[in-house]
Formats: sequence, structure tokens, C-alpha cells
Amino acid sequence: MDICHNAAADLEMVDDESEDEEPGSEDLPMSFEQLTEVKYRDSCFACKYINSSSLRENPEFVALMKLYTENAGSVSRPALFQLVKDHFDAYCRPVVQAEWSIACIEEHFTLHTNFPTDEVLKQLKVLVSIRNKMISTLLTRNVRTGEVKAHSNNIKNLITIQKEIRELLSFKKKLPTLLGYSEVLDF
Ligand SMILES: [Zn+2]
Repeated sequence: MDICHNAAADLEMVDDESEDEEPGSEDLPMSFEQLTEVKYRDSCFACKYINSSSLRENPEFVALMKLYTENAGSVSRPALFQLVKDHFDAYCRPVVQAEWSIACIEEHFTLHTNFPTDEVLKQLKVLVSIRNKMISTLLTRNVRTGEVKAHSNNIKNLITIQKEIRELLSFKKKLPTLLGYSEVLDF
């Protein structure tokens, strides 16, 4: 059974534009756990069946999660979800006798999880895009006189962004050494 639907539609946020307003008596501070909470679904195969004991018992579950964690950085999202779906259909569906649709796979890895590698990859993607666009703002050449001008603020900003990119890359390498990190589940 697969009744997964878009959990984003369930998420309602109120953007209060007034700044630094005193909290009312009904406004309680959110805990770290609440802040980082992700939306699990009983109807989602991975949320329901993937845990440390099921991973010990089913090597195919391990292979399934590794498909995601090992390819997330290099394969496009649609191709990645298809890889996961093909493996699930061939090796996991017979075990659990349940469906896991492409839509639900996408929702799982987008909304039900909080993988540190995903976060690092998202940040890297944004910063690398900005960096690539900035390259053309560093130097200008006057078409008539040929005079070249360096735009030092842009160069400084580029250096800051490149430093951040290097730090993210080295943090990504360090992730597996963090306490409690699971290579298979990437958390
Ligand atoms: Zn899920």
C-alpha cells in the first residue's frame, strides 16, 4: 500500500512580519528536537522498515540506502530516485510485500530525512553556482583603450566564497568520523 502524498502541503508556516514582538502566553519556545524534526510517514517504506535492526537482517536494505548515499553527490535527482526504485522493486518489495512509488521515494529523501550530506551538497551547489557567475565580474577591459580594471570588492567576495566551498568540501570528508554517524543511513 502506498498512500504517500506531498507532505509539504501539510506544512503551514506563519510568517509574522512584525520584528522582535514579545511572545504571547501561548507562544512557547521550540526545542532543538522540534526545530530539526522531520515529517515521517507510516505509509513510506523507508520510514516504516529501515532501522538499525532491519538493516542487520536485510543486506538488500543496506544496498538500497547505500545506492542513495553513495550516488547523491554525482547522479541527478530523477536518476537517483529511479535507481532506488529499481533496486526496491527487484529486491525489497518481495520481502516487505509493499509498494514504494517514485513520488514517495522523492518525498522520503526530500522531506522525511535530515541527511547531513544532503545539506552539505545543497550548500555547495548554491555556492558553486554563485562562484561561477562571479568569475565574470572580477576584471573588466575597456573595449576602446584596452585598459584592464580589477574590481577588488568582487575579488574579495569571491575569495570568501571559495574559502567556504573548501571548508564544506573538507567537512563533507569529515562527516563519517562524527560520533554516531552511520555510513549507510548518512546520519
Ligand atoms: Zn519516508
